[in-house]
Amino acid sequence: MSSDRDEEPIRPISQEQFDDVLERAGVSLGSPPKACILCGGPVTGIGHNPEPLASYDAGRCCSVCNDTKVIPARIRAMRRAPRIEPQ
Ligand SMILES: [Zn+2]
Repeated sequence: MSSDRDEEPIRPISQEQFDDVLERAGVSLGSPPKACILCGGPVTGIGHNPEPLASYDAGRCCSVCNDTKVIPARIRAMRRAPRIEPQ
């Protein structure tokens, strides 16, 4: 088992560094989403999955909609879901 000293710390990388890694790996993520599928506002980065408020294939949503609409909708759906009792 390795100690903490042996492990490289995880450091965030810039968008440019990330793009460079993808290019060298020959990976294409396609063109980045431009507008939020829910509010039409700007989407930063790759955006968020809008399900269940819109189809995954419909597009991406912005961080504001993700935090204020999508996550609450998922929590509501989770509360409505049948409870799974332990065996
Ligand atoms: Zn939005």
